[in-house]
Amino acid sequence: MRVAYLGLGAMGRPMAANIAARWPTILWNRTTAVAVELAAAHGGTAATSLEEVAAAEVVCSCLPTDVEVAAVAEVLAPALRPGTVWVDHTSGDPAGSRDVARLLEGHGVGYLDAPVSGGTDGAAAATLTVMVGGDVEDLEQVRPVLETVASRIVHVGPVGTGMAVKAVNNALLAASLWAAAEGLVALTAAGVDPAAALEVIGSSSGRSFATQRLLPERVLTRAFPRTFALPLLAKDVRLAAGVLEDGGIDGPVLRLVEQLTAAAAADLGDADHVELVRLVERAAGVEISLPTDAVLPDDER
Ligand code: NDP
Repeated sequence: MRVAYLGLGAMGRPMAANIAARWPTILWNRTTAVAVELAAAHGGTAATSLEEVAAAEVVCSCLPTDVEVAAVAEVLAPALRPGTVWVDHTSGDPAGSRDVARLLEGHGVGYLDAPVSGGTDGAAAATLTVMVGGDVEDLEQVRPVLETVASRIVHVGPVGTGMAVKAVNNALLAASLWAAAEGLVALTAAGVDPAAALEVIGSSSGRSFATQRLLPERVLTRAFPRTFALPLLAKDVRLAAGVLEDGGIDGPVLRLVEQLTAAAAADLGDADHVELVRLVERAAGVEISLPTDAVLPDDER
């Protein structure tokens, strides 16, 4: 199978590198130099125009939102051959993904919304979880390609449901990150060593990805690597609020998380998502990494 990969950002780049190592791959990126550099390092062919992508039987995309996917699909769809399957790894709006599916269907092209979980580390290690919405036959056609990037592939329903599951998952990530930051700041202020607290929570019922990985690896160390931009997390939480709304569900907790995360993104701009912990620290005047009675100097509050 010839594969095309569109969007070589933090997630797309390592996924495309793994695909290019296994399949004949056409690499396309809005900034062409990124595709040229990836092809030189990992194989595959860099496309200088979207039209070159039409030679592929499987088109994968990983763009910021469904809006960018729709714009690219608008240009590309007429050139694609009937029978091609488009696998969209973007975390987007379920309704937007249904629009893209309809557009592609008009050209005989299948569409799966297939957002991923596992972060940039999981993308590099090809251990992602993929949540797939769409036709099961289309999924079976592209499964060998998905197995190149993922260790878990779960069909969750018709087109749009993969996006819905991803949005809710990331809203839970945001909720647990805010809550863990508040809890750890409070424990630090109370004189508890945050590393000891995280060790306890890590083997107790309050644990989450935030307490097991993000706080120990990124906050205690003050490393704060940039792997997943805060505006993208804010977008996911907003989409999750939309999923609740569509279902007529009153969700006060996730609505609050949506407001907090949107405000954090407005405040911190394109920072990594874990940086929202710094807002909690600043408000409390307590840094999670420091010895138990540490208080931030006034100018860092
Ligand atoms: P990045 O910002 O690192 O990459 C975005 C990619 O989209 C780049 O290739 C960029 O091209 C391209 N792009 C941006 N705007 C346009 C446009 N208008 N037209 C065409 N291409 C465009 O994002 P990530 O890789 O982090 O995220 C991509 C998707 O994956 C998002 O939906 C995100 O929510 C999701 N995701 C991210 C995870 C993470 O840990 N980072 C984890 C799981 C899902 P250019 O190089 O030209 O800027």
